[in-house]
Amino acid sequence: MKITERLKDKRKIFSFEFYPPKTENDAIRLQSTIKELKELKPDFVSITNSSTGTVPYRTVGLSKALKEKTGFEIMVHLTCVSHTKKEIKEIVSNLKEIGIDNVLALRGDIPDKETIEIKKDYVYANELVEDLRAMGDFAIGVAAYPEKHPQASTLKDDILNLKKKIDAGADFAITQLFFDNKSYFNFMDKCAQMHVNIPIIPGIMPVTSYKQLSNFTEMMGVAIPEDLAGNIEKYSKDKESLMKFSIDYATAQSFQLLENGANGIHFYTLNRSKATKQILKNIMAHVGIKD
Ligand code: FAD
Repeated sequence: MKITERLKDKRKIFSFEFYPPKTENDAIRLQSTIKELKELKPDFVSITNSSTGTVPYRTVGLSKALKEKTGFEIMVHLTCVSHTKKEIKEIVSNLKEIGIDNVLALRGDIPDKETIEIKKDYVYANELVEDLRAMGDFAIGVAAYPEKHPQASTLKDDILNLKKKIDAGADFAITQLFFDNKSYFNFMDKCAQMHVNIPIIPGIMPVTSYKQLSNFTEMMGVAIPEDLAGNIEKYSKDKESLMKFSIDYATAQSFQLLENGANGIHFYTLNRSKATKQILKNIMAHVGIKD
């Protein structure tokens, strides 16, 4: 079932993001993560794609394998900045062949010029959305940034650019991860004021290390609330307490989002199951959230 169909009913929607494994150990861990998370019956799982354009077959291959072996509804991430239009056509034709109905259309981060050839067919994600709309009957998702994309000068500008993706045919959006719900609620208010009316699913990630946190601030411009930073530091040498804190934090964040209008939660799993499984179990135990 297309994600757009699922978004029409009233039930909250839950999904997991996985990345294609790069090593044998990665692959073994992903296998066990999938086994653990399968019982939670996600509405869909999404498979990331490198922005360098060098290994799209990994994303397509993992999507095909998961579709066949688990029956998961799949959303494939497709980045365009390092692809020509011809390459995108070929990838899309592969996606159609394996029966993919949902695509997250992304620009991707601009790769380092020294190592990767920059192709010039695509500059922004709205151009990919337009091509995807013309190429097939896909449910098309796009990225949204509650704290603005790092390259955008203002949140308003970034929302105007989100509107370009919607005008090109995007059906729904998934947000960048965030740790302060105020940023999501503020973003949703601004989107409503600017007549952005597509469903915008919040993306949540349980944090498991202090280093991870500082990477987010630096690379993604994501704000870290003081209590979160303080506790992650406090438990940095106590794995068990850190995991418990992280699960409790993300559970509280998810409850508040769901109770205040969010239509579901997209979990950034980093191919690990423990925290996501417990958070979703906590949510499911919350009466009326999921049947
Ligand atoms: P765009 O929507 O093109 O926006 C990029 C920047 O350009 C923004 O600052 C925007 O305001 C501006 N802009 C957009 N359109 C225009 C326009 N028409 N004119 C002028 N300015 C414009 N990266 C990966 O490499 N692989 C993944 O699998 C992946 N998955 C992701 C999943 C989610 C849910 C999210 C939120 C991000 C993901 N990313 C992924 C990261 C993403 O690729 C980067 O954030 C990238 O820098 C921007 O991609 P975008 O599709 O948002 O680009």
